[in-house]
Amino acid sequence: MTDYEAVIGLETHIQLNTKTKIFCSCKADSWESEANTNICPICTGMPGVLPVLNEAAVVKGVLLAYAMHSDIRKVSFFDRKNYFYPDLPKGYQISQYDMAFGDGGYLDLPMPEGYSRRVSITKLHLEEDAGKTKNSGEVRMIDFNRCGVPLVEMVTGPDLRSADEAAQYLIRLRQLLRWLGVSEADMEKGHLRCDANVSIRPVGSDQLFTKTEIKNVNSIDNVRNAIEHEIERQIREVNAGNKIHAWTLDWDDEKNELKKMRSKETEADYRYFREPDLLPLHLTDEWLQATLSNFPELPLNRKNRFITDYQLPEYDADLLTLERNLSDYFENAVKAYGGDPKKVSNYLMNDVLRMLNEGGKTAEQLRLTPVYLADILKLVDAGKINTSTGKSLLSKVEETGKAPSMIVESESLGLVSDDAAIRAVAEKIILNSIKEVETYRSGKETLIGWFTGQVMKEMRGKADPKLAQEILKELLNR
Ligand code: ZN
Ligand code: MN
Repeated sequence: MTDYEAVIGLETHIQLNTKTKIFCSCKADSWESEANTNICPICTGMPGVLPVLNEAAVVKGVLLAYAMHSDIRKVSFFDRKNYFYPDLPKGYQISQYDMAFGDGGYLDLPMPEGYSRRVSITKLHLEEDAGKTKNSGEVRMIDFNRCGVPLVEMVTGPDLRSADEAAQYLIRLRQLLRWLGVSEADMEKGHLRCDANVSIRPVGSDQLFTKTEIKNVNSIDNVRNAIEHEIERQIREVNAGNKIHAWTLDWDDEKNELKKMRSKETEADYRYFREPDLLPLHLTDEWLQATLSNFPELPLNRKNRFITDYQLPEYDADLLTLERNLSDYFENAVKAYGGDPKKVSNYLMNDVLRMLNEGGKTAEQLRLTPVYLADILKLVDAGKINTSTGKSLLSKVEETGKAPSMIVESESLGLVSDDAAIRAVAEKIILNSIKEVETYRSGKETLIGWFTGQVMKEMRGKADPKLAQEILKELLNR
């Protein structure tokens, strides 16, 4: 039987998180607004109004294009994409067509299996979002709040070879969007939407069978699921000698299956032409330079630098660069600590990440600042507190916002490093452990651990263990 491989391309629509819409001053984020409250004559397409381009949308679009290694066109154009649909009150969408501000580009995907996939970008442009329709019984309702929200549409080449690779693309894109601060990138809220073109071909051949398009998938897991289902279905059809039809498929979340939808318009049906109400977009060198002057180090670069600069394992470096806040936190803590970066990483991955998840906070919102975390590590290193006190301090600092050393003092959490106090306890234990003392003195020196344990127990874990052992050795070897 023939082996088949999948050929997948993704079309994403990314809502930019600007304050206002792309061509008017209505609020862009309507997630919590009542229907049809963030609208005006411009975004609802009243006759005689004129759109004005929102510079913030261009800034965010350019940041994204730059991160995608796209060439940025100094002069680009807006066009009208004409189609009739109830959620599009103007009867056309203002979009960019043949001369978009972004030209080409790629995104590298490090796959968990160890290989890397480079995904090319064939389209990257600015456009306005349409409204939303909602069925309620016999009535179809329209919410225009989303009309005119700035979007970047980004289309990949047919470079993805599995459902996992498609999911990885979305994971890395979402990471990048949040890293750049250009989109909230929440698929459930529609900030990031994805359609997938899926086809198969015999391995080693470049003869593709007909492709289908999957639409309306609202989470990364569902994209993976839907594509997996569709690849299996296509292979089944081909093996059974059936034709694959150019269907548009709709993912049904609840039934976990794909449904056939209406067939789609072709490009010619859209009758694109230049938008006469907007001037061409000119990006000057000075403007580009200013916009890109604070461009951040990208997640993959930062991950690789963490591996080389701090000798972190790849696993740590990957986790610590999932979010920009977290990687900033890590580097600030390492700087404040001055000791082994791997120790900082352990505290972050085990304790701070859990704190973040439970508290619903980002790293920069923590009261346990990088400097406080470093202080705790230093207290442990110096033998002033033990490791478990160090761990309990993490949440105490987070709850109170107080400096670790202050909490150690006010709650007397510090280790007793008072020679006389430890000596008194050690003497008492030696007196009461005649058998163990004999065994130790006859040569079984490993028993020192047991003696130290007894001192620690007696002092409720607060004795400085190094000092306790020294004193015990001295007394036992007398
Ligand atoms: Zn408006
Ligand atoms: Mn589009």
